[in-house]
Amino acid sequence: MIPSATTIPVQQAAIRVRDVSRRFENGVLAVRSLSLDIDAGVFLALIGPSGCGKSTLLRMLAGLDVPTAGTIEGINREQISYVFQDAHLLPWRNALGNVTLPLELAGVTRSQQKERATQALERVGLADAIRRYPAELSGGMRMRVSLARALVTDPQVLLLDEPFAALDEINRQRLDEMLRSLWLATKVTVIFVTHSIAEATFLADRAIVFSSRPARIMLDSVIDLPPERTMRLRASPEFAQVQGRLFEALQRGEATS
Ligand code: ADP
Repeated sequence: MIPSATTIPVQQAAIRVRDVSRRFENGVLAVRSLSLDIDAGVFLALIGPSGCGKSTLLRMLAGLDVPTAGTIEGINREQISYVFQDAHLLPWRNALGNVTLPLELAGVTRSQQKERATQALERVGLADAIRRYPAELSGGMRMRVSLARALVTDPQVLLLDEPFAALDEINRQRLDEMLRSLWLATKVTVIFVTHSIAEATFLADRAIVFSSRPARIMLDSVIDLPPERTMRLRASPEFAQVQGRLFEALQRGEATS
């Protein structure tokens, strides 16, 4: 363990992952005996090399996949939203129509649907684009619609699987900044999968670095940076120091596998 790393105390964990493994039918052991506590309201980043089992873990948290051993407790699947790398919008519906969809499925009244979806689109900076169709939106805007759709139901837990990885650097940084301020405003529990150390440092208050498959926890650390995060933070010595710690753990995790 690195001396400057802070281990998270186990207290009032909202989500409890206990000895969870997932072996696929082809014999691949994607996750091996993983235990983890996640407090309510935290912004947690999961970092690790490609193929180490991050998405598999996220899918199990969401109930989209089932562990072959172990248990996951404390997560109400009705209260989860999931955001993928691809925005997954319906092309024949405009931005508003895409964001009202989960409310329609939940039986919310039409006027409420429209009001809440409009508000959600305003929160992600798309007030002027609510009538536009996915084909008329940029990649960054489509991802904003996807985020609005995830947040419109006021979930307790927001799971994001490399949501901005396909965007160019400027757009990615803008969306990081927006997501961070949305989290500050809502304090929804966020679990964010990324392989970008810079992104994890910028966004999260706790970061877990995994080794190569099957993932072991190389570092579980508080990210002690100010709550309000802006572009300027990325150039600060404190930011570089946190990044360095995460990078060292990632390197160790790749070397020892
Ligand atoms: P990550 O998100 O960290 O890139 P994944 O969780 O997607 O990793 O995958 C972990 C490992 O499990 C990889 O080796 C991947 O090829 C394998 N895997 C993922 N899904 C399946 C599946 N449905 N069947 C077989 N192997 C899978």
